[in-house]
Amino acid sequence: MKIVIVGGVAAGMSAAAKLSREMPEAQIIVFEKTQEVSYAGCGLPYYVSGENADINKLRIRTVEQFRKSGIDVRLGHTVIGLDAKNKTVDVENEAGVLQESYDYLIITTGASPIVPPISGKDLPGVFVLKTLQDAMAMREALAQVSSVVIVGGGYIGMELVEAFVHQNKKVTVIERLDRVLTLFDREFSEQVADYLGNNDVDLRLNETVTEIRREGSNLSVLTDKGSVLAQMAVFAVGVRPNTAFLKDSGIEMIGNGAIVIDDQMRTNLQDVFAAGDCATVNHRVTGKMKYIPLATNANKQGKLIAEIIAGSNKSYTQALGSAMIKVMDLELAKTGIGESEAADYEGELEHVTVTAGNHAHYYPGHGKVTIKLTVDKQSKVIVGAQLIGAPGTALRVDPFVVAITAKMTASEFGALDFGYAPPFASTWDVMHIAANAVKE
Ligand SMILES: Cc1cc2nc3c(=O)[nH]c(=O)nc-3n(C[C@H](O)[C@H](O)[C@H](O)COP(=O)(O)OP(=O)(O)OC[C@H]3O[C@@H](n4cnc5c(N)ncnc54)[C@H](O)[C@@H]3O)c2cc1C
Repeated sequence: MKIVIVGGVAAGMSAAAKLSREMPEAQIIVFEKTQEVSYAGCGLPYYVSGENADINKLRIRTVEQFRKSGIDVRLGHTVIGLDAKNKTVDVENEAGVLQESYDYLIITTGASPIVPPISGKDLPGVFVLKTLQDAMAMREALAQVSSVVIVGGGYIGMELVEAFVHQNKKVTVIERLDRVLTLFDREFSEQVADYLGNNDVDLRLNETVTEIRREGSNLSVLTDKGSVLAQMAVFAVGVRPNTAFLKDSGIEMIGNGAIVIDDQMRTNLQDVFAAGDCATVNHRVTGKMKYIPLATNANKQGKLIAEIIAGSNKSYTQALGSAMIKVMDLELAKTGIGESEAADYEGELEHVTVTAGNHAHYYPGHGKVTIKLTVDKQSKVIVGAQLIGAPGTALRVDPFVVAITAKMTASEFGALDFGYAPPFASTWDVMHIAANAVKE
């Protein structure tokens, strides 16, 4: 059996590694267009910040290690076409174009940062952050600059704020919308905006970048409202699935180019799977197809495809869009749905918001945690949680992940035997308080 995998990072190499264990007799070929496989993209901001000084720590497994497990990794090979009828892919490398047949094809080509088509986008000093090479280039350039403009107030933009503030740079964030971190409800975005302001970050909302010009040693970032001078600019305005090469293949995609898959990561084409940032995922709470480009899904889906090809009948039905973000000392996390996703939900939602301590008030490092809990109004089953606050906040999202998955009601959750000791929590933890604030 020959299994061809296109793209060799989170989803692709999770599939390859699991396949090599589950089906040692199978021929596994990975085509990767760059010279890197299996790296921790999520760790890039902490290399840029200097908190991790060693880029090699982000390389999870080397090509040699994969090859030793019998996986045929081919770097510098870009898949440029798919003929699903004849079960072949066209692959371009330095020598030209070759054709490779497959029994099963796994598409894990990820997504690329969107760069608006504006004048100056390719100037030296203008960056995106996706690959190890991007991070190395950004960190090298950072040593020479004192000011940075981040275009985009999503989670990568916010992680970069932290990285640049950590390096004592003057930071401006320009966001086209009227708030940052739109995956959270509005009041969370507002708290983050206040926090950025209190930390000398210049946040400009409702402002669109229209052009970048070089002015001596500076870049002038022009917007529809004015301009900002800085020595570096970074685009963090979202990602687009790397699926353009599939446009004539008959594969089903949604508007942004994400491949439509079912709960077993199967596409509409026979024996063709897709996973990770190049594909959609079905949201557990709403049942709706969503584009959620996060490593959480990619790794699990890749491994599961291998198990399915090896004969398992498992499905991936766990996606809740769970996410965590740290902006300096502020932690945020979310799982399930909130007010922002109410339109996706068929029932009626009820929300409660509470604020309490992260741990006992007499223990050092005391701070506040705010939780907005979302339940189904009729059944009181928990369907979402959003958290913001002091250190100790983000990991409190995980009990809510379990609760949503297990369809627990707020009153069941509010009585759970969470661990307690003064450095970590309170006897009635903020999680209990949130759940018990829901009226039965
Ligand atoms: C800065 C940053 C921080 C992040 N932080 C988090 C986080 O904290 N938590 C979280 O859950 N997620 C985070 N993510 C997202 C996470 O990194 C992605 O969800 C994950 O990498 C997706 O894995 P993937 O395998 O689907 O795609 P990718 O990691 O994008 O890998 C796809 C690979 O396919 C290759 N490829 C593309 N097209 C072709 C082709 N035609 N032929 C051959 N090869 C091809 C690409 O070169 C690439 O190597 C972060 C991402 C970034 C950039």
